[in-house]
Parts: sequence; structure tokens; C-alpha cells
Amino acid sequence: MPCSICETCGTQFAETAEPPPSCPVCDDERQYVGWHGQRWTTLEELRAGHVTVLREEEPGLLGIGTEPAIAIGQRALLVQTPAGNVLWDCISLLDEQTVARVTELGGIAAVAISHPHYYSSMVEWAEAFGAPVYLHAADREWVLRPSDRVVFWEGETRELGPGLTLVRCGGHYEGGTVLHWAAGAKGRGALLAGDIVQVIPDRAWVSFMYSYPNLIPLDEPAIRGIVAALEPFDFDRIHGAWWGWVVEADGKGVVARSAERYLKAIGG
Ligand SMILES: [Zn+2]
Ligand SMILES: [Zn+2]
Repeated sequence: MPCSICETCGTQFAETAEPPPSCPVCDDERQYVGWHGQRWTTLEELRAGHVTVLREEEPGLLGIGTEPAIAIGQRALLVQTPAGNVLWDCISLLDEQTVARVTELGGIAAVAISHPHYYSSMVEWAEAFGAPVYLHAADREWVLRPSDRVVFWEGETRELGPGLTLVRCGGHYEGGTVLHWAAGAKGRGALLAGDIVQVIPDRAWVSFMYSYPNLIPLDEPAIRGIVAALEPFDFDRIHGAWWGWVVEADGKGVVARSAERYLKAIGG
């Protein structure tokens, strides 16, 4: 029995005899059902038509993406530390070559994911590398392939290792999380932001939305909550969810200025 993967959001579901009737992630107002209706694929089909690309983003940080792009098109990030590697966010495709290459790099000690749009094939990755998957408990209902590997964490922060801290920002999803990497950007600190803090085409700014494809903004308390959650952390660089979507410098100032601009626009 295959595990179905939604073609529009890339979420892999638990094994079923027939594809599921619908995808709750896409039915939600933050996403959308594909214009030609709900469509499903499988890992096997994806392996036949796509390859995995690994590219260094900065020393100690490897991007892992799929070509041609699948669904939302995000790439994951492998943070390499002396205490073990952490896979930040996830993708739908996992193939043998990638398991071999990542194993050569020391494997994966833990997976952590910003929000349900990137849960993708997290259980495949967790099983291949014997790793736990850290998800914020507030988004528990969106886990569509349950597994003993999933660790639901609660509260506002969670240490994954020395200098690696999960920070719950909320906003886009109630459990929306970013990963603070203290050693990133040559020790100035980096934020691995998923789309919880969204790098935008003008990379001197970021934005924050309840839905990106459907352009639903957040309210004032949500914006202030994100800024407050990040206040204790220093970071220069912000790595967004796609290749090249990076704020190179003054990341913390960029978040502060962008939040101010946003609040002005919504009358907050
Ligand atoms: Zn979907
Ligand atoms: Zn999202």
C-alpha cells in the first residue's frame, strides 16, 4: 500500500488502500486545492521524475532541494554541528543517493520543522536516519502521517543542541517555529525562518502572513508576538524557505523595520 502525497502541498499521508478523499492542508484557507482538483502522487513516482540537489548555503549549512520543484518548492537545510546535524524543514522527495550523501556527512541527529506546509515526507526522512522529528504541539492536528518518531514540544523555546534553539513565533500557524543558529553567519547568528518570517524579493525586508498564496495578512498582536519571540536572539542572516531567499545582513534590524512598516500598513 503506498503513502499518498498531495501534489499541491507535498504532504505525505499515512498508508491507505485508496488515496484519501481530500487534503486537509489544502482545504484550509491558508492553502488551496489545485485548479484541476485534488491530485495525488507517491514517493516512487516522484523518484522517477525528480532529482535531489545539495548546495552549500554558507559554511556548515547545506541546502537540500528537489528539481524540478515539487508542490510549494521549498528546500530543506542541514545544519552541521559538532554535536550532530539537524535537518531544518523537510521536502517530499527522499532517494537513495541523498541518504548515502547525507550519511557521509554524519547523518541526521534530529529533524525540526517550521510549520505543517513543510511536514512533507518527514517520516521517511526520520526513519531513514533514525532521527526524531520536533514539531510544535499547537500544530498537532496537521500531522497526517502519525509516527512514534514525532516529538511534540510545548512552550516558547526548545534547545536542540548547543547554540540551536527552536523559537515559537506563531503567526502563519499557531505553532509556527523558527530555528536560531548561534554559530551561523560566521558567529553573528542566523535565523532559519521557513515562511514564519518570510524573506521577500526585496531582500532588505521580510514579511509575515496568515496565508501567502491567498494573501491573508496577520493582525497586530500576531506581528508584535513574532517580534517579542525573537527579541532575546541575535542574528545577522535570515535563511528563507527557497534557494536564494536570504537576508544577508542586519537580520534583526530587518525584522524590526519590517514589523514597523507592516503595522503602519494595517493601522496598528
Ligand atoms: Zn495538500
Ligand atoms: Zn506555509
